[in-house]
Amino acid sequence: MPETMNNGTPDAGKWLYELTAELTPPMRSITGDGVRRTLAAVRDALGPDIPFALDEVATGTPVLDWTVPKEWNVRAAWLAGPDGRRVLDIADNPLHLLGYSMPTHTRLSLRGLRPHLHTMPDRPDWVPYRTSYYTETWGFCLSDRQLGELAAGKFGDGEYEVYIDTSLTDGSLTYAEIVLPGVSSREFLVSTHICHPGMANDNASGMATAILLARTLAQRRRRFTYRFLFIPGTIGSITWLARHGDTVGRVRHGLVLTGLGDRGQPTYKRSRRGDADIDRAAVTALIETGRPHHVVDFSPYGYDERQFCSPGYDLPVGRFGRSQHGEYPEYHTSADNLDFVTAGNLGDSFGILLRMIEICEQDRTWTNTSPFGEPQLGRRGLYRSIGATMDRRAVEMGLLWVLNLADGAHSLFDIAERADLPFDTVAGAADALAGVGLLTCPDEDDEGSRDNLR
Ligand code: ZN
Repeated sequence: MPETMNNGTPDAGKWLYELTAELTPPMRSITGDGVRRTLAAVRDALGPDIPFALDEVATGTPVLDWTVPKEWNVRAAWLAGPDGRRVLDIADNPLHLLGYSMPTHTRLSLRGLRPHLHTMPDRPDWVPYRTSYYTETWGFCLSDRQLGELAAGKFGDGEYEVYIDTSLTDGSLTYAEIVLPGVSSREFLVSTHICHPGMANDNASGMATAILLARTLAQRRRRFTYRFLFIPGTIGSITWLARHGDTVGRVRHGLVLTGLGDRGQPTYKRSRRGDADIDRAAVTALIETGRPHHVVDFSPYGYDERQFCSPGYDLPVGRFGRSQHGEYPEYHTSADNLDFVTAGNLGDSFGILLRMIEICEQDRTWTNTSPFGEPQLGRRGLYRSIGATMDRRAVEMGLLWVLNLADGAHSLFDIAERADLPFDTVAGAADALAGVGLLTCPDEDDEGSRDNLR
């Protein structure tokens, strides 16, 4: 396992692919021992130096407008044909069992069994991913081709044996949280879901990427405090929000991670606000790649951004990934496997995410310490300090724009937009000006302590 990973290098992609491969197969759902085993693997991959906190929230606990559900556990599930041979077994693929299936042991004709079998007729070789969290039933998922074989009598005629050894009982919902304190108590939230079994892009790639981000940021100086959530989809973010009313007010930026390894173009979904700093940072980082990408507007559909961006919270949380859910045929099927993701795309997504974070760390609202007339720049050696590689004209315009708009009211994003200059140029100019005392950032030193007073 590489010790340091500073950008989207091929090594990062390889590391992410290996971890994605490790996190993909296990059976899991929104609650139960599958979640706990998954979180134990997350903890191992984070390493011993990153503080890791598990929370268990009891079944029946009211959370916002919802209630924490019963805990579901799976020991075994299979279907055997009339001739006694196994038709399918979750030991081969966890997708074969309808998520949250009730315990069942019975014998049924194919006709009686048929309403409990789920297939994808338009993709006859794939097994669909289906769940029934809030309606108590049971079922199996299989390929349509395999269903055809049952109808053709491949396993003989007569009754099939259904064996589903699950339990649905009072227990708890489990999630994990890690916090990397920064200079400021203002927070950068990174959230990923942990509830899908057997699928690589949605969702093992999100877990792996969040882990590598945490490991990377743990080794850096951090202005913001970083909080990573590993939570079951929907009910997990609702439960976390219900229990962290105090934390919510400190969130300055946030990202939901999912679907980071497929061959589609990088895609950022804006927060509900649409022009939050994370939205501007994401667009900046994507433009900097110089490659095709998508930026899509917020909609109240998708992953946990739905909860973070519900109107009562309206947090500045966007979503980053590649192909969007529902827009690729492999979504929520057995074809979302380890061939569907690549090390190169995982590494590319990781590099873009790190850059988004760096941009948020760099953005500040500076104040010009010499605002009466232009300060004399030549004698301060500013041009030399910025370096020879940048276009001299752009450097000069960057310095002049920053000096002019650094009035304690404009952020570097504001300045870059107004000046129509790359963020990098403006941020470089600000660093150089601050280095010679021409800029100050009065709120920076005490921004943490001010927050603590609230
Ligand atoms: Zn999903």
